Amino acid sequence: MSNELVSTALVTGASRGIGKAISLTLAKEGYQVYITYVSKPQEAEKVVAEIEANGGKAKAFCLNVGDTEAVTKFFQEEIKDKVRLDVLVNNAGITKDGLILRMKDEDFNAVIDINLKGAFTCLREATKIMAKQRFGRVINIVSVVGLMGNAGQANYAAAKAGLIGITKSAAKEFGSRSITINAVAPGFIETDMTSQLPEDIKAKYAEAIPLGCFGSAQNVADAVAFLASEKASYITGQVLSVNGGLYC
Ligand code: NAP
Repeated sequence: MSNELVSTALVTGASRGIGKAISLTLAKEGYQVYITYVSKPQEAEKVVAEIEANGGKAKAFCLNVGDTEAVTKFFQEEIKDKVRLDVLVNNAGITKDGLILRMKDEDFNAVIDINLKGAFTCLREATKIMAKQRFGRVINIVSVVGLMGNAGQANYAAAKAGLIGITKSAAKEFGSRSITINAVAPGFIETDMTSQLPEDIKAKYAEAIPLGCFGSAQNVADAVAFLASEKASYITGQVLSVNGGLYC
């Protein structure tokens, strides 16, 4: 691979929330950042504009990570031989909550397709490229819920626990190519995803957090930037919790 290719970090689901904070942070670290979105192009373009205003480089792409064919095509057309893919952050995720007895198949499947299969497909396509480079950093955004379970989130907990399994397996497969694969497990973080929670439930969750409040997207972005950095070069197959002590 040519040294002239620009060092790039790909962050899925980066138009808002945690993905946006990760993209802004990795851009400050010097990466060109490729951000993906699925439904909010204007928000994604705002992230690109903010990165460029700070002197960085970024591009936005519409990519449904649940669409395997689209993901494969994206890596072939936009990444392979066009950029040096140093970092993949599998951040895109959705929730479709419901108690098990009432959970519809379509809600179970949608969460697995996007949060688990989507992350797997991106990891598979990225590691094909990183293996040739003999370098790469993959960071999967999982959740405290994948570690401890949560009533009403069996689908989401299964997807995130599954992604932890993929993280540990991939770390074993790709260590010999100097590719590290880790996960960051946020607790409750202030984003659109948690803004859907009723205020009384949010207050109840906050009471259970030793540090006493929800975290910020920046708290998660800082952990991701660490795992992407040279300082984390001997860390692989790990789950770094960013949860205020909620589950420890
Ligand atoms: P968010 O604010 O709801 O943002 C979700 C992002 O994912 C958006 O950029 C959205 O794009 C994108 N997205 C949704 N469906 C997609 C698909 N099919 N393909 C590609 N992109 C898709 O979420 P967040 O709170 O920042 O969460 C980010 C990650 O952290 C998720 O994996 C989530 O499970 C995890 N997490 C969050 C928390 C929390 O408390 N917030 C806690 C633990 C873990 P559009 O804007 O275009 O719709």
